[in-house]
Amino acid sequence: MIPAPFDYEVAESVGHALALLGDRDDAKLLAGGHSLLPLLRLRVTRPALLVDLGRLEELSYVRDKGASIAIGALTRHHDVHQAPLLQEHNPLVSYAAGLIGDPQVRHRGTIGGSVAHGDPASDLAAVLLALDAEIDIASAGGVRTVAAADFFQGVFMTAAGPRELVTEIRVPKLTGDHGWSYLKFRRRAQDWATVGVALVAKRANGGVESAAIGLVNMGATPLRASAAEQALVAGADAGAVAAEGTDPPSDTQASAEYRRHLAGVLVRRAAGEALG
Ligand code: FAD
Repeated sequence: MIPAPFDYEVAESVGHALALLGDRDDAKLLAGGHSLLPLLRLRVTRPALLVDLGRLEELSYVRDKGASIAIGALTRHHDVHQAPLLQEHNPLVSYAAGLIGDPQVRHRGTIGGSVAHGDPASDLAAVLLALDAEIDIASAGGVRTVAAADFFQGVFMTAAGPRELVTEIRVPKLTGDHGWSYLKFRRRAQDWATVGVALVAKRANGGVESAAIGLVNMGATPLRASAAEQALVAGADAGAVAAEGTDPPSDTQASAEYRRHLAGVLVRRAAGEALG
């Protein structure tokens, strides 16, 4: 289908993008377009104005911030995957970015677009949740920081409002005591995850001091598998309780029951990978 008519403006800076959004509720930001354009073509969304962020070089970076790594919202998945700083200090993020879609998607799609879209099937959203990432959101009133745990609020719903712009995402540096894994189960290469598991565990005294597990496609938002995290620290079978508190969808890819089963299998495997 052909999208409904819209006006189009190119933002020259973050301030310019916010000014273009103004106090309108009928404008939408355009980053890589890989989630928004299909929705426009299906006329699921009909914004009167598209504000193109694509040329905002100021939001395309990966920087060392001491204890954390900062990633600009316009950084493409390919660049997140290739960033030496992430490969050294948080390989979980760079590895997961390399599993998104196909090369074309990774060269156009952005990390900011991925989180702002609020799709529970997103790979990076669950990874950021497991990492307790921080997300900066700019508006005419200034910049506020939201924890990943508070950012994802429902299917395609996030803490970023219609006149706000995600500018930066920060992830912690992992140390030698951390083990990690990202496992993505999909029926065909380059598909979205049927279920995905992001796991980070900190080892201490031959055991597990702390664990964080993010689940992809197991509910309306990316979810933390809290019961499995506790089981891992207690030395119990994390897979047995991986699906506790989840509400996975049934669709053409898999039934909810199969997704629950997959979550258990993947959490067990991810724990083995992270701690092995
Ligand atoms: P856009 O499509 O431009 O925007 C998406 C939404 O976010 C829009 O509502 C837009 O207004 C808003 N937005 C964008 N940037 C900002 C910002 N900085 N601040 C506030 N709001 C903003 N994703 C996966 O995780 N895993 C996959 O396996 C996967 N496979 C894919 C396969 C295909 C064929 C396609 C087309 C997409 C796939 N994706 C996958 C999605 C891809 O990662 C998208 O790039 C991503 O979801 C959206 O990023 P974008 O930059 O393209 O955002």
